[in-house]
Amino acid sequence: MTTIDARSMAARAAEIIPGGVNSATRAIGAPWVFRSAHGATVTDANGTDYIDYHAAFGAILLGHGDERVTTAVEDASRRLGLVGLGITELELQLAELIVAAIPSAEMTITTMSGSESVLQAVRLARGSTGRSRIVKFQGCFHGSFDAVARNVISAPARAYGWDPNSSGILEDALEHTLIAEFNDLDSVRELFARHGDEIAAVILEPVPHNVGALLPEQEFLEGLREITRQHGSLLIFDEVITGFRHALGGYQELCGVTPDLTTLGKAMGNGFAVAGMAGSREVMSNFTPAGGSVMLAGTFNGNAASMAAAIATIGVLSDPEVDFYGHVRALGDRMRSGMRQITSDLDIPAVVTGLGSVFVTYFLEGEVRGYRDLMRNDDHAYAEFHRRMTGAGSLMYPMALKRNHISLAHTEADIDRTLESAASVLAAMQRDGEFGRGSER
Ligand code: PLP
Repeated sequence: MTTIDARSMAARAAEIIPGGVNSATRAIGAPWVFRSAHGATVTDANGTDYIDYHAAFGAILLGHGDERVTTAVEDASRRLGLVGLGITELELQLAELIVAAIPSAEMTITTMSGSESVLQAVRLARGSTGRSRIVKFQGCFHGSFDAVARNVISAPARAYGWDPNSSGILEDALEHTLIAEFNDLDSVRELFARHGDEIAAVILEPVPHNVGALLPEQEFLEGLREITRQHGSLLIFDEVITGFRHALGGYQELCGVTPDLTTLGKAMGNGFAVAGMAGSREVMSNFTPAGGSVMLAGTFNGNAASMAAAIATIGVLSDPEVDFYGHVRALGDRMRSGMRQITSDLDIPAVVTGLGSVFVTYFLEGEVRGYRDLMRNDDHAYAEFHRRMTGAGSLMYPMALKRNHISLAHTEADIDRTLESAASVLAAMQRDGEFGRGSER
């Protein structure tokens, strides 16, 4: 195997790519250079293997390089690639799969990223209602588009207040986005009492995984549905992470609350660039090709490789013989109960949570309902735990509140190896006095 000099490669990259990475959260201190990824394993420049729980921020559901997906992509690329006119059979096939799977989907479009899907959904909501404001929740992330780029993992002093994710955004765009608290209907009612007839939409991750895993209360989701209906606003579920991951029909299938619009992305192509947006016929008909006034455009939308990746991925997810959801739930439960046992044996204050394939260990005491509770998280310990776990061979993103993912390619043996590492890592952290040092936000 040829060797790769990670340090010099990272240095060369930093000369001509800002910070040496193509997405900000890929820069995490040490030069990380990877050479390959197969199944549940990624291999770095030195040839060191890691059990991958980062999973490309959740884009990998079946495991890296799943044969069924790569073969479908190869075939489609050879046959069709990108024509960029009219419609192809692959685009229609994917649309039919999405409409059949997602409860809110009477019509659907494809895009190339979750951010584009959110942009389309928010613009469609504004275009359809003629209103300008949207409501988002502190801690939810919806991509890089201006209107939603605020108040994600905010430092406590800026939470709920003015906390843009970037400079260069018109203040006007951000000011039209109001911030509420997850699982707190009163915070939403208050915004509607003040701005009800100006609110085009409420957007949320039905399970806010961008801060680990806040589990939604049923009355909260039902309440949002009711309030938005009462006020003539749209409800947007951003299922870029939860879609296909927690059920074929997304989290809306599990909770039985049907939003007006749904955004999809990440895992729908098992690592290939594909995303989507879906909704009611009435709202989706406001796009220009259907005679409406809201622009719909994108050179790469519907390209054959992306369509084939999504069709093949959904095919595996819906195959009862594969039982994707049963597999990842069983491994997720094994991981969560193992982590509960370890933290309780060591007497470390922790809340082990998650859903199905996602597992999270917050280092805090008491219950976790919304972002306010996550301000008690020991962020230093959280990041240090992930850092040390990666050093011990289980790749976990070393930043406070980041979640971990299990794929179809993970095995019980992987989970048990990770739990063994977690027991020794946490014991060592306790000896080293890593708990109670405070915030990294
Ligand atoms: N929405 C959610 C819930 C996300 O987690 C993300 C990305 O992490 C996005 C939207 C943006 O997706 P993308 O990075 O594909 O633009």
